Amino acid sequence: MSELNELYQQLILEHNKSPRNFRVLDRCTHDADGYNPLCGDHYHVWVNVENGVIMDIGFQGNGCAISKSSASMMTAAVKGKSVAEVKALFDTFHAVIMTKIGDEVPDATIEALGSLGALAGVREFPARIKCASLAWHTLVAALNGAGSSISTENNG
Ligand code: ZN
Repeated sequence: MSELNELYQQLILEHNKSPRNFRVLDRCTHDADGYNPLCGDHYHVWVNVENGVIMDIGFQGNGCAISKSSASMMTAAVKGKSVAEVKALFDTFHAVIMTKIGDEVPDATIEALGSLGALAGVREFPARIKCASLAWHTLVAALNGAGSSISTENNG
């Protein structure tokens, strides 16, 4: 498990250093602004949805390594997926990072998350859970057509 943790840590650092899809989209159908005042993480997410599928996604902003790598991993994970699949993926990811310390998360659940599973360990650091979920809350707000801004202090 410690080898796996090390691998996951490197993945997080790598995404923080070279975030995927870190750009403004020329054309988008949805976008939203997300802010985590507890840490100062602040991102904007743009999505281009066609026929219910996320054709393209981009994000920009600033924040801690956890928030930026989570946003980067999210964009890589959701591109090409349907909106319904993305919401299901978020439900799984959110359930994992909200699992109480001491409670078991099945290995199969973490494996099903792919690279997002690298962030499963944040559940042991409650202050960082909102950093890891910020980009996702922002994406869901964009997809729901909120088209505005969300704060982790209003959305949990
Ligand atoms: Zn943060």
